[in-house]
Amino acid sequence: MTDMSDTSFDYYARKKHDHGDHDHAPAAGKDEGPPSEYEIMSRAMQELLEAKGVVTAEEIRRRMETFEEEFPYRGSRVIARAWTDPAFKQRLLKDGKAACAEMGVELEATRLIAVENTPDVHNVIVCTLCSCYPRELLGMPPTWYKSDSYRARVVRDPRSVLKEFGTVLPDHVTVRVHDSNADMRYVVVPMRPQGTKGWSEERLADILTRDTLVGVTEPRVTVKS
Ligand code: FE
Repeated sequence: MTDMSDTSFDYYARKKHDHGDHDHAPAAGKDEGPPSEYEIMSRAMQELLEAKGVVTAEEIRRRMETFEEEFPYRGSRVIARAWTDPAFKQRLLKDGKAACAEMGVELEATRLIAVENTPDVHNVIVCTLCSCYPRELLGMPPTWYKSDSYRARVVRDPRSVLKEFGTVLPDHVTVRVHDSNADMRYVVVPMRPQGTKGWSEERLADILTRDTLVGVTEPRVTVKS
């Protein structure tokens, strides 16, 4: 964990961001243009695996669908469980990967660190080098998470970035920015909002959006009129 108080401007100089055993290409900071070298390699690999009979195009398609349809909601379910089951929350905070496995969610990264927001501490997640992200919990990372702007600015001035997401924190709250890497992923355990007493896990999961689990927003209870 990297505790990024507002004074840690020598961050880049002292941190060692280990991406040696990496599972994806460094983010290019662009969304358009011709396919990158990595995309071409990925496609070639897929074609080769299909030709060798290791995987079928159908299996790849199904996997992609799971990624898009199921993965983005797993994190919400895990955190909703933590909100309703104190013993589970303790296990999640102690060993995130093992706690997720209890719920049938297997993570590829070696470690998952769940960081809990409190009235005095607010946590935010970034990958300063590329786009490491708890994909098995949140699906694919959003474009802003991979952007050069977010990756650089959330480290230097997290409060300004949070403000752009509509999150204004009281001055006494310490903001901690956690830098993910290939082996270590983070997920934020937000504070459970007032007015949710007695809610089911399913209902709680609905207010645990992706952005709340990255830490750029806080869960809100919307009152229907
Ligand atoms: Fe990364």
